[in-house]
Amino acid sequence: MTLERLQKVIAEAGIASRRKAEQMIVAGRVRVDGKVVTKLGTKVETFSNITVDGEPIERESLHTYLFYKPRGVVSTAKDEKGRKTVVDYFADVPYRLYPVGRLDYDTSGALLMTNDGKLANLLMHPKHEVDKVYVAKIEGSLSEDEIIKLKQGVRFDGHKSAKARVRVLKTNPKKDTQLVQLTIHEGHYHQVKKMFKAVGHPVIKLSRERYAFLDLKGLNSGEYRELSRVEVDRLH
Ligand code: URA
Repeated sequence: MTLERLQKVIAEAGIASRRKAEQMIVAGRVRVDGKVVTKLGTKVETFSNITVDGEPIERESLHTYLFYKPRGVVSTAKDEKGRKTVVDYFADVPYRLYPVGRLDYDTSGALLMTNDGKLANLLMHPKHEVDKVYVAKIEGSLSEDEIIKLKQGVRFDGHKSAKARVRVLKTNPKKDTQLVQLTIHEGHYHQVKKMFKAVGHPVIKLSRERYAFLDLKGLNSGEYRELSRVEVDRLH
């Protein structure tokens, strides 16, 4: 979610030119989330409720996409190092989209992109407990004991993870690696990597196969599809 200047938002809604919008603000005709705002340059959230003379202004319609994020892409709107960002894939979409949460630069998989700030906040709230299914290629292979530890929650950064579901998918004894599916609903920074590290098995490769009920079926890396109204409702 970004902050934008109030006069810009009003002008973009087609109510008035930016100059006229400034005059409306100074005249006390504009309310943001119910409060009169007269200071020019006041920044508002993209999704705050803005009225002019008591009439709500038309904001962008709401759109949410499921994106198959490739590896080697940052999941922020801008990158100070000039690396490719998830937003770059949506150049043809006329909405200002933001990722719902983050996937690491070197993690691929399911990422929601939306201009619906309320939905994004809801989904990112820890109480909402959205299941996220990851597949990790790890060094070595998990012992029964380590699987139990992961299931019960492991300690990292002074925090104990919530219970996880763990399924060993494939063991490669020659390369001494294992593919493991891990399902969690938390989203701490580098959580999956830290959880495996905590039981002694660094992650070599990570992908997110599913976000809530949304998997990547039908999408190739770098592709996206818009969610239907029914799917968006189901996310709530
Ligand atoms: N956990 C991680 O370690 N990285 C991600 O990108 C997502 C979850």
